[in-house]
Amino acid sequence: MKNGTLILGGGFGGLTVATELRRLLGPDHPIAVVDRRDRFYVGLRKLWVLVGEATLEAGERPRDRLAAKRIHFVQADIQRIDAAARTVETDRGRLSGDQLVIALGAESRPDLVPGLHEHGFDLYDPRSVRAAAARVAAIEAGRVCVVIAGLPYKCPPAPYEAVLMLDAHFRARGIRDAIELRFTTLQPGLLPNAGPEGARWIGEVMTSRGIDWAVGREVERFEAGRVVFAGGDALAFDLAIATPPHRPPAVVKASGLTDGGDWIRVDRGTLETGVPGVWAVGDVTHIPLGEQAALPKAGLIAEAEGLRVARAIAARLTGGAEPPPFDGRGECFLELGGGEAALIEGDFYREGGPAVRVVDRSPAHLEAKRRFEAERLERWLGAG
Ligand SMILES: Cc1cc2nc3c(=O)[nH]c(=O)nc-3n(C[C@H](O)[C@H](O)[C@H](O)COP(=O)(O)OP(=O)(O)OC[C@H]3O[C@@H](n4cnc5c(N)ncnc54)[C@H](O)[C@@H]3O)c2cc1C
Repeated sequence: MKNGTLILGGGFGGLTVATELRRLLGPDHPIAVVDRRDRFYVGLRKLWVLVGEATLEAGERPRDRLAAKRIHFVQADIQRIDAAARTVETDRGRLSGDQLVIALGAESRPDLVPGLHEHGFDLYDPRSVRAAAARVAAIEAGRVCVVIAGLPYKCPPAPYEAVLMLDAHFRARGIRDAIELRFTTLQPGLLPNAGPEGARWIGEVMTSRGIDWAVGREVERFEAGRVVFAGGDALAFDLAIATPPHRPPAVVKASGLTDGGDWIRVDRGTLETGVPGVWAVGDVTHIPLGEQAALPKAGLIAEAEGLRVARAIAARLTGGAEPPPFDGRGECFLELGGGEAALIEGDFYREGGPAVRVVDRSPAHLEAKRRFEAERLERWLGAG
């Protein structure tokens, strides 16, 4: 495609860029979105699937509905990115654009944790979550654990939501007393993105619900019925649900845009790569925050970045003023089970270090989380 914008990845970031560009530039600017999968769903739905509250299918939409917005959807596997030429090779041929936006996300990699595939379930894989949901529904008593087994991973609150939603699920079934619920993370503290106050808060919530939790537990391997940590300690389980480490799709590493690392390097305000006319948004990027931390990988961040990129492209094409830089602000919900959610608000680029606030639980936040999904589906791919 020439004289238009080529968007790699039709997830949160890619769909935002495409939709906003269409809104800003009218029907004539060519826009194409490439994704290997024909259907889109919002990742948070997997948590509802885990505890039997929803199906993935009910939240899926076909990507070819983008045609209603005159956005061309190409279902293809991207195999090579030539950033300088703004061209990609796919299993369906070569595509190019005048502007290239890379929004290829992060992939869960259970294969990097020995034994996980055989003995545990992957919270980030739809098939694995469906299988875990069947076990959750069938269990009457036993030991259930949620384990953060690698870094980085997307949606920092998701494993915490999983254990809290399991707790609420077992309570609703009247079997909570018969279930030992455990949570471990390899991180030195709970939910580091939420700062010390957020860590204290989530620790208190888990303790008050009888969830036994531990930090600094680096997983060495999963075995039948137990997870073995570095140092030799082990935790026995009847059902283990894990968060594996995430890595970018293989095609990203060979793109020359990762500066020797795994993830694409961008300017944190403009989201431009080092190559003119090439941007990257969302989970596929690494944006350092000081020495240790990085901007969290989350849908709302991918969306905010996508809006900024679309506005920058539109401004360049129309001769308008450059939009303000992405400000590093984002919020997300932390579902607590039992009909409530908390809201986490982050100001990640704040001078002096990120500031994160947990706005405590409320049924209204859960309602807002449900609307969050419905609104995105409708905005990008139409209702129902
Ligand atoms: C259980 C769970 C709960 C979550 N909860 C929340 C939440 O409450 N709030 C929130 O903000 N975020 C949440 N997230 C995170 C959110 O889903 C991601 O951060 C978000 O999807 C990132 O958007 P993205 O555009 O960077 O990548 P994605 O949305 O992952 O899109 C990347 C796309 O690229 C495609 N792709 C990759 N490689 C190729 C290739 N080689 N060829 C063709 N196509 C390719 C993929 O098929 C995919 O569609 C949650 C995620 C999970 C799994």
